[in-house]
Amino acid sequence: MSCPRCSGFMVSQVFEDLRSDTGELSFKGFRCMVCGEILDAQISSNREHRPHHQARNRKLMSY
Ligand SMILES: [Zn+2]
Repeated sequence: MSCPRCSGFMVSQVFEDLRSDTGELSFKGFRCMVCGEILDAQISSNREHRPHHQARNRKLMSY
């Protein structure tokens, strides 16, 4: 797994999301060791069907 932003090394990680309105308190994703980019595996897979999650993903990736 390489970062789409900087091609750096990414590690799988479970993130806690206490403000989620979906009832899920954590989600699995990838974090870039170089630039800190975060990819949410669940949001990525649901992006086309659930636009609401796309907005949340964009907020995370703004860092
Ligand atoms: Zn990166």
